[in-house]
Amino acid sequence: MQSREDSSDGMRECPTCGGSGTVECVCTRWRDGDVGCGICGGSGRMTCQSCKGGGTGVPIAARMYIQRDQPKRGGQ
Ligand SMILES: [Zn+2]
Ligand SMILES: [Zn+2]
Repeated sequence: MQSREDSSDGMRECPTCGGSGTVECVCTRWRDGDVGCGICGGSGRMTCQSCKGGGTGVPIAARMYIQRDQPKRGGQ
């Protein structure tokens, strides 16, 4: 069986990040010349809090438990 692509029915692009899964970090707003902080790790982008980086809108049912602590990602 092949995986069919369903671009509807719950899974939509996250309006916050536009489906990219990442948004501009707050440090990019500072306009202090330097971009990069502990949140984005100097990349200027951080994981979208709306979709948790998935790029798709989170179902209402999943919004019931909102976790503040996000897992740390290895690497740089
Ligand atoms: Zn998002
Ligand atoms: Zn930053």
